[in-house]
Order: sequence, then C-alpha cells, then structure tokens
Amino acid sequence: MDPFEDTLRRLREAFATGCTRPAEFRAAQLRGLSRFLQDNKQLLQDALAQDLSKSAFEADMSELVICQNEVDLALRNLQAWMKDEPAATNMITKLDSAFIRKEPFGLVLIIAPWNYPVNLTLVPLVGALAAGNCVVLKPSEISKGTEKVLAEVLPQYLDQSCFAVVLGGPQETGQLLEHKFDYILFTGSPRVGRIVMTAATKYLTPVTLELGGKNPCYVDDNCDPQTVANRVAWFRYFNAGQTCVAPDYILCSPETQERLLPALQSAITRFYGDDPQSSPNLGRIINQKHFQRLQALLGCGRVAIGGQSDESERYIAPTVLVDVQETEPVMQEEIFGPILPIMNVRSLDEAIDFITRREKPLALYAFSNSRQVVDQMLNRTSSGNFGGNEGFIYMLLPSLPLGGVGNSGMGRYHGKFSFDTFSHHRACLLSHPGLEKLNDLRYPPYTDRSQQL
Ligand code: NAD
Repeated sequence: MDPFEDTLRRLREAFATGCTRPAEFRAAQLRGLSRFLQDNKQLLQDALAQDLSKSAFEADMSELVICQNEVDLALRNLQAWMKDEPAATNMITKLDSAFIRKEPFGLVLIIAPWNYPVNLTLVPLVGALAAGNCVVLKPSEISKGTEKVLAEVLPQYLDQSCFAVVLGGPQETGQLLEHKFDYILFTGSPRVGRIVMTAATKYLTPVTLELGGKNPCYVDDNCDPQTVANRVAWFRYFNAGQTCVAPDYILCSPETQERLLPALQSAITRFYGDDPQSSPNLGRIINQKHFQRLQALLGCGRVAIGGQSDESERYIAPTVLVDVQETEPVMQEEIFGPILPIMNVRSLDEAIDFITRREKPLALYAFSNSRQVVDQMLNRTSSGNFGGNEGFIYMLLPSLPLGGVGNSGMGRYHGKFSFDTFSHHRACLLSHPGLEKLNDLRYPPYTDRSQQL
C-alpha cells in the first residue's frame, strides 16, 4: 500500500486542468500564505520555541519576516514575472515573434530541514506557488512542533486540490522519492542531497539542492577585533549555531587570535550575560543525537571560551576552541552548533590555499579593514555566498540568490530567483502562417545555395 499515491494523483489531475496557471489563482494562494503567517504568528513562534528554544526576535527576523517579505514581493511582482520575455530576432526570423514563456513545471516536491523549519519550507513554497505549480511539501520530522503546525494549519489557507503536506522521516521520504515529480527542491545535508539526486535521475527530474558544509571565516591582522568579534559571534551563535550559512571556523594569525579571544569573550557576555544558560536569547540543540555529536566535538583542540554543556536541556555554551588540528573531527565535519574553532594561518595566501584545498563552501566570510584583502579572498576562491566584513545578513535581501556550488549544492532561489527556479523557460517562436514565398530559399534542392549564406 503506497501512502502517497492518492495524494499525488489528485494533485497531478488538478494541474492537468490548468487551474493553477492564471495569475489570479496564484495570487490567491500567495494571499492565503500571507494570511497563514499573520493569523498564526504566535502559534509559529511557540512551535519554534518548542523545537529550538528560538527567541521571538530570532523567530521573527530569520523566519517569519523573511517569509512575509517573500510573499509580499511575489504578490507585487507576479504579473511582471509572468510576462513573456521578448527575445531578439535575426534576418531569417525578422517578421516572427520570439519570446520566453515562464510556465509551471507541474508537480513540485519541496523537502525541508529542521533548523529554520518555517523559512526553509515556506520561502521555496512562495516561488513554487507564484510559478503556478502544484506542490507537495515535506517538512522535517525532527522539528516536530513546526511540522505539526505546517501539516494541520497551513493546508486550510491553500487550495487543497493543488497543495499537500506529507509527513515522514528518511524511510517515508525515500518512498515518496520513488514517485515522479516535475521538480524537486531539497534543503539539507550533502549526504541526503546525493540520495535525492540519485532518485531524481530515474525520471530525469530537475533538482535544486541547497546543501551545507564548512564555511570559512578569514580574519585579517588589519581589523578592529571587537567589531569582528561582535559580528562573528552573533552569526555563529544565532539559533545556537544551527545555521547552514554560519561561519564554521576562523582562520587567522596567532597574533590576531590573541586579540580576538578577549573580544569574543566580551561579545558573548554582552549578548548572553555571565551565565549564557539562563539567557532567553540563546537557543538549544534540536535533539539528543545532535547534542551528543556536538559534545564530542568539544573534546577537539583546547577550550578557550565556554565549553560547558547540560544534557537535560540540550544546552551547549557559546564556545571557542583553539589549538585545533585540521585532522580533528571539528575541522572535518560541519559543526552546526555553538562551537567556533580557530585555526592559525600565517598569511592571506595560506588561508586561501587552505580554503581552496577543500570542498567549495556554501558561504565564505572575510574580515579586514583593507578592501584589497577582501577582494583577494573574493577573487581567488569560490562559494555559494560571500560576506565581506559581514555575516549572513545577505539572507535578508531577496535581490540576492541563496544557493551553493559544488558540494554545497546547485541552483538558487529567493525573490525572483525562486520564481525562475520553479518555472520552465520555454523558448517560443510564432511565425506568420502566410508569406510562404519567403521560405523558398531554405528548402532543398540546395544546389549552389551555400554560396548565398
Ligand atoms: P538532512 O539532510 O538530514 O534532512 C533534510 C530532509 O531530508 C528532511 O526532511 C529529512 O526528513 C529528509 N531525509 C533525511 N534522511 C533521508 C533519507 N535517507 N532519504 C530521504 N530523505 C531523507 O538535513 P538536516 O539535518 O535536516 O539539516 C541539516 C543540514 O542541512 C546541514 O547540512 C545544513 O547545512 C543543511 N542546510 C542547508 C541550507 C541551505 O540553504 N543550503 C539550509 C539549512 C540547512
């Protein structure tokens, strides 16, 4: 018995009627999504607090406001985005009309992770609905509070003949992936990304893979340590470090490390007080498995700041590790928690060499008072996103795409990029049915014709 068959058939049949294509239908779905966000703000904040002890400020800033802005942007621009894009013609097609039509793919599957369980589920959904698709949403089974709200409340705001939330973990998602979809957007780990892409090859389904990895953060000697520490600490410990684009480790000289450590301590105390465990501003680790994984990482190198943990609350203190070796687990796997190792390098060249020897990261950060240093880091490396003297604040700009490169993913979305991602760009040429005499030149026999080209 296949638990998904009926749902998927229903959605396919709905798409075949063409009901999702008109702008009015798409706008109605987006308005429904907007109402869902407004009516259920408290419910969503509570769910995020239950799942990750996310403060209301972090929930608003990194999840609810971003979703609302994406919906508003799509509603404002829907007509313009849907318009056929005129294309240039040449001598042969001068009298014809050439254009690119953005048409929906059909049935889209969105698979989401647990760390920003509202944002990473609904922001892709905005693009998929705006582009006129039917959508199956698979939230993470790990962020249970949010999963419940998405499964029980969200469908009430959308046309249920064209939209469904399905539930499950690895086994159920594996079963879901045996079905044919017309587009899949997956956000999660590179390991599961490979599973999704392998499943997609069966039907040649196009995919966007939003994956993770280790994001380097280079700190130049020429910097103000307190400014750098404030920015790096906020982005590292935001959501208890469970952010795909968080700076994962610092690369700097031993001298800069000595200046950074007291500045990092001061930033941590300023943000979370003398006892971060009692701070309402610091989140908790999502579950016991991840807590234990992170606790093991605390054994790498030497603890310079923090290092405390409390299993009963899944609490890990904002931590900085020094004397870390490249071969240790904390420098091998994505940390995804409030732990910040510092690796020493002697120069910018050595830092660039360290970064380019590894997989291309999702995000890369460079801090320096010298624009030349930031430019060199930008010009000589590759990553999905880049922050110069800044953390992942670019996530607030729908004018910039989010997407990885190499091991950190493929494809991009946010803002208009989402609409384009979920739209097939159909190349169209409409010719005149008459004027056939003009075509004589192109038909065989071709004798002596090539000299006329
Ligand atoms: P994950 O890969 O374990 O799970 C993601 C989704 O895949 C979940 O919905 C899960 O149910 C499903 N899944 C898990 N195992 C599966 C399997 N064997 N077969 C089919 N489906 C399976 O990732 P996670 O732990 O939820 O999230 C953390 C990872 O996601 C990190 O690597 C992080 O960097 C990455 N991430 C990336 C972005 C981005 O925008 N690039 C954003 C957030 C998280």
